Amino acid sequence: MNIPALAIHGGSGTAPSSIRDKKIKKMYQNALEEALYAGFTLLKQDYTALESVAKAVSVLENCELYNAGKGSVFTADGQHEMDAAIMDGKTFEAGAIAGIQGIKNPVMLAKDILHHTPFVFLSGSKAMEFAQLQGFEIHPPSYFHSQYRYDQWQAVKGSEEVKLDHSKGDYKFGTVGAVAVDINGNLAAATSTGGMTNKKWGRVGDSPLIGAGTYANNTTCAVSCTGYGEYFIKGVAAYDVSCRMEYSGVTLKQASNDVIHKRLKELGGEGGLISIDSQGNISMPFNTEGMYRGMMNDEDFFTGIL
Ligand code: ASP
Repeated sequence: MNIPALAIHGGSGTAPSSIRDKKIKKMYQNALEEALYAGFTLLKQDYTALESVAKAVSVLENCELYNAGKGSVFTADGQHEMDAAIMDGKTFEAGAIAGIQGIKNPVMLAKDILHHTPFVFLSGSKAMEFAQLQGFEIHPPSYFHSQYRYDQWQAVKGSEEVKLDHSKGDYKFGTVGAVAVDINGNLAAATSTGGMTNKKWGRVGDSPLIGAGTYANNTTCAVSCTGYGEYFIKGVAAYDVSCRMEYSGVTLKQASNDVIHKRLKELGGEGGLISIDSQGNISMPFNTEGMYRGMMNDEDFFTGIL
C-alpha cells in the first residue's frame, strides 16, 4: 500500500514536432512536475483526493501548452468552449460543465457545481450565470489566445475537418486530468479540456461526462481519460474500468489495459487513461504514440511523454 498518491495526464496522441525541441519538451515536463507537486503537497497536508485533483488540473489549465483552460483550442467560429468534470469516489458526488467560455479554471467551476448545487452537469451560457454568482471572473478571449492553437485552427478553418489534439500531424496531446487517493483511502478524478479544434454545433466530448471520461468509486478506482472523445463516450470507458474491477474482480492494471487496448480498439478509438485504486496502485495505458503523464507518491516520482 502506498498512499497518498497522485497521477496526472496532459493528453494522449502523437507528440507535436516541436516537442523534438528539448527546450519545449522541458516546458511540457515542467508543467507536469508543477502539477504533481501542487496536488501531492495537498495530499501530504491531509487534504482530500478531491482537493488534490482539482489543484493538479488547475495548474495544467493555467499552462498554455495544454488544451484546457488557458491553452484551449479554437472552435469553428474562433471561440474557446471548455468542458470539465470532477468526481468524489467516497460520496459519488460529481460536478461537470460543458461549453463554457471565459473561465480560467473550469475544474474549479465543476467543483463548485459539486459543492453548491443539487445538480451534476451545467452547460453553456446558463452555466456562466452560475459561475458569475459564484464569483468567477469572466476573462476576455485574449486570455485564451495562443499562436500555436490559432495556427492549428487556421489550418482547418472553413473545412469540415475537426481536429482532435490527437489526430495525425501536429495536433496531439492536451486535455488534462488527475486521479488521486488520499491518506484516508478516498479516491477522486478530474478532467478538463478545450475539446477539438474546429468543433461546432456545441460538440461536447467525453471529458465532462461522468462515466465516459471521468469517474471515481472508492471500492474500485478513479479514472480520467484522454483521446478521441466520441469513442470513449460510446464505450463508457471510465465506468467500464470500474465495472470490470467490480464485476470480474480483475486488477486495476488489467481492467485499464483491457479498456484501452481491447475495448477502445474494437470500437475504433484511440487514446489513453490514468487510473488509481485505494491501495495507491496506478495504471496509465495508452494506444497512441504517447501520452503526457506523471505520478507521485512517497517513494516514486515519474513523468513521461512517449
Ligand atoms: N477527449 C477529449 C475530447 O474528445 C479530447 C482529448 O482528450 O484531448 O474532447
